[in-house]
This record gives sequence, structure tokens and C-alpha cells, in this order.
Amino acid sequence: MAPSLADSTERLTDHEYDVHGDALRCPYCDRPFPSERTRTFHVGVRHGESCTEAEREAYEAERDDEEYELFTFHLKAAVSVFLIYFLFVFLYALVWAG
Ligand SMILES: [Zn+2]
Repeated sequence: MAPSLADSTERLTDHEYDVHGDALRCPYCDRPFPSERTRTFHVGVRHGESCTEAEREAYEAERDDEEYELFTFHLKAAVSVFLIYFLFVFLYALVWAG
């Protein structure tokens, strides 16, 4: 019988934990995380009261990065909308003039 998708996903997840060991588990509640970044966020949000100074600083640095990325995304979106608007106005003027 062919292994189901759920089985192979479980095995892949087990493998990931084996490789990284305790490195990507929350030190407070032992919850596993797929990346260092998600764990840092989790520790900052869920264990903000009891985490160490270094963990808090890491969380705040990650959060600042996130805000900066969001700001950059909004800026790009706004510039794109403006350029598309300008393009349509230009095309309209061109068609109307011709
Ligand atoms: Zn935790």
C-alpha cells in the first residue's frame, strides 16, 4: 500500500525534529517550531513575562524587522497603484489626442 500524504508529512516532521533536536523547541512549553524566527516570536508573545532579556531583545528586533518589511510592502503597493494610474491617464490622453 502506498503511504498516504499524512504519513509522509508526519515522517518529514519527525525527521526535522531529529535533525534539529531541541534547537527549535520553545524552552518554556516545549512546543516545536519550523524556524528560529517563529520560535522567537512565540517566546516573545507567549512567554514575554518570564523570558530572558536576550530573548526579549531578539523578539523586539524580529518585530521591528517585520514592521519594516510591512512598511516596505505598503510603499511598493502604493507606488505600483500610482504608476498604473499614471499609465492609464497617459494612455487615455494619447488615445484622446490621436
Ligand atoms: Zn512556549
